[in-house]
Amino acid sequence: MRAKRPAPRRQGVKKKAMSKQSRRIVLVTGGSRGIGAAVSRLAAAAGYDVALSYLSDNKAAEAVVADIEGAGRRALAIQADVGVPDDVQKLFRAVDEKLGTITALVNNAGVIGRAGRLADADDATIKTCIDVNVTGAILVAREGIRRMSTRLGGRGGAIVNVSSAASTLGSPGEFVWYAASKGAMDSLTLGLSKEVGAEGIRVNAVSPGLIDTDIHASAGSPDRVERLKGGVPLGREGTAKEVAQAIMFLLSEEAAYISGAILRVAGGR
Ligand code: NAP
Repeated sequence: MRAKRPAPRRQGVKKKAMSKQSRRIVLVTGGSRGIGAAVSRLAAAAGYDVALSYLSDNKAAEAVVADIEGAGRRALAIQADVGVPDDVQKLFRAVDEKLGTITALVNNAGVIGRAGRLADADDATIKTCIDVNVTGAILVAREGIRRMSTRLGGRGGAIVNVSSAASTLGSPGEFVWYAASKGAMDSLTLGLSKEVGAEGIRVNAVSPGLIDTDIHASAGSPDRVERLKGGVPLGREGTAKEVAQAIMFLLSEEAAYISGAILRVAGGR
């Protein structure tokens, strides 16, 4: 009988290096509240280390961080306005340095502005919406691709853009500028999925409908969900967790052959 050879020591080193290599890290923009917070928590439960950005609600961001760490994963909250290009650079540098290279990105941060007709909207409302939802989302996607693209030395990955059913409904009388910004998100998703598919990156979007988060109050319509939910074919509003579950599916291996999809999560609306 042949003597069993002891395992070479370097195997242990290789295993350690591989486990770092196989670590999954997701960046969720706007991860302190609403849909982003729900994604951050579900991602931790699915085994991701999570970086989340926020605009100003440090307390909410730290509460999400505590939940992620409680689930046994690493977490990092970074203040960064995605509507400010320097902040986007600062955000990605912090994630690179403190958590590692991302393998997944949820491009979620978004704003509406005060609800009303376009003729009554001021310049700042429209500019902020486009700066955050369009320019910011494009810059965030670019930085994600620079890190994940196999063409640029990355390991590949997945991006989920958070669009809105507003992109096809148009939101007349409420916020057509916001609907237009989400139309841009849909185009970004389609174009990018074709541009980087061969570089190991899948790009998809979710289009949430009427979801119960603080965003409606921020638009000056705290009763909006109550007012509109009767018009949703499923007869109710959606929850942030229901959108987050769709996002987690699109990030997962179960969606390995899905790219360029815009998945409506809107109760039939
Ligand atoms: P939310 O509850 O208002 O939360 C917004 C999140 O984005 C917060 O974490 C906020 O940070 C962050 N944020 C806001 N402005 C930012 C900026 N300039 N830079 C970085 N982060 C910023 O919103 P939500 O309802 O979860 O919406 C999330 C996404 O889903 C948005 O893109 C929205 O357009 C989309 N969506 C929502 C609905 C809906 O019915 N709720 C429907 C369709 C699409 P702070 O906590 O620091 O403020």
